[in-house]
Amino acid sequence: MQFDLKKSDRKATLDAILERLEGYYDDTAKFPVSPDIDVKEIKAFINEQSLQSGGNYAAAIESVFKGLEEYAVHTPHPKYFGLFNPRPNFAGIISELIAAYYNPQLAAWSHAPFAVEVETKIIKEFANLFGYSNDKSDGVFCSGGNEANQTAVLCALNHKYPDFARNGLLGTKKRPIIFCSKEAHHSVHKAAKTAGLGYNSVIPIPVDEDLKLDAAELSIALDNCRKNNTDPLMIIGTAGTTGTGAIDDLEGISKIAKNHNIWFHVDAAYGGAAILSHTLKNQLKGIEYSNSITFDAHKWMSVPMGTSIFITSDTDILGRTFSISTQYMPKDAEKLEIKDPFSHSIQWSRRFIGLKVYLSLLFYGWDGYDDIISHQAHMGELLRKKLSQNGWTIMNNTALPVICFTDEKHGKDENFTKTILEKIYQSQKSWISIYPVKNINTFRACITNYNTAENDLDELVSELNNERKKYLK
Ligand SMILES: *Cc1c(COP(=O)(O)O)cnc(C)c1O
Repeated sequence: MQFDLKKSDRKATLDAILERLEGYYDDTAKFPVSPDIDVKEIKAFINEQSLQSGGNYAAAIESVFKGLEEYAVHTPHPKYFGLFNPRPNFAGIISELIAAYYNPQLAAWSHAPFAVEVETKIIKEFANLFGYSNDKSDGVFCSGGNEANQTAVLCALNHKYPDFARNGLLGTKKRPIIFCSKEAHHSVHKAAKTAGLGYNSVIPIPVDEDLKLDAAELSIALDNCRKNNTDPLMIIGTAGTTGTGAIDDLEGISKIAKNHNIWFHVDAAYGGAAILSHTLKNQLKGIEYSNSITFDAHKWMSVPMGTSIFITSDTDILGRTFSISTQYMPKDAEKLEIKDPFSHSIQWSRRFIGLKVYLSLLFYGWDGYDDIISHQAHMGELLRKKLSQNGWTIMNNTALPVICFTDEKHGKDENFTKTILEKIYQSQKSWISIYPVKNINTFRACITNYNTAENDLDELVSELNNERKKYLK
């Protein structure tokens, strides 16, 4: 069996897949945005494929294309108004292919110095953008916001308890407490679970009218913490909540964190990209005072999945949290002014995650990102306006393109939102989600696609209007 295949078979395969992939990229809008899901049918389809002897390349590839085209929500579709899953940009896509061909191993600097240095450079650039000083920042690429938030919790533990690396939680006398808003992402709970804290260590703080963490409530919770003989570990502010795009008062929270001398992490998984837009960047005021930041490039920077950045203003903490010395790993880093990613991260063997961001910047530049992020924010404004003009009530307040809305007269009717949403899914023309705001199940639409244009918004609004009319008849 020739794993490389014959050169002619490789060429035929590449030609065939490029044609198919390019067809999908050009004509994404022609696909039904969400399919009917029939688990039995999908499992049967997968089971039909023989894994025994291989050899039929064309059939193999065809079965994968069929699976991906028929049995998936088409998140790259311009009328997917969904959950921060972008249409992947072209530079990001080809980065995946390039990284796979060369397959550099980024665990140790000396195996892939170019790749590691590219990632180091990109992390510095983002640290500077977010307002950390040049010589006082560090960071690492992660698989996603979940890993980055988990990294933050582990760093906060190692920061607070100097003995943590050796004795873990057994060395702490009181329960460490994580504070975040009720609207924070549940990866915070997951991080608490997997760090050995348990999610009882997370105290969700109520939110104010604008769905931002309520600072007064945070101060009360911190006081209670001392009374209960627990130990405040960290405060997590969210810059762009998953549900409603709310941005916590980062400056205000940073002062509280400073007064209590605890770690301040900002989960900017989605909203961090606002820093790239000249019209939005002031929304992130105060992020520069944080100790660490989570930023997902695989959301609003539109690179393919598996690309997040963890940044910290503490230059020692990643090493203290993750370094391990081994007999067998290359030791060059000890002599040079460099860091080995494996001793700096939850991951060991690592792929060239950062190439997707680097090549995107080489292709489009910061200027291109300024345009596209500002464009998407503008589409969000337009959608808000169109919805209001058509009798829908906007229930959230954010400059980011996340819109939660209802019909004031019918929002309390439980069937209203559910029925209309079902109809929209059945029509397979658009995809929006549902999210509770102030005890009302609202529709939630987010501009996740840089190609979404005004006519896509009009089609969504008109579909919503029609379904509302039919429901009320
Ligand atoms: C998406 C998201 C996460 C989780 O990130 P993944 O990349 O999905 O792992 C965490 N926090 C916020 C605010 C998010 O929007």
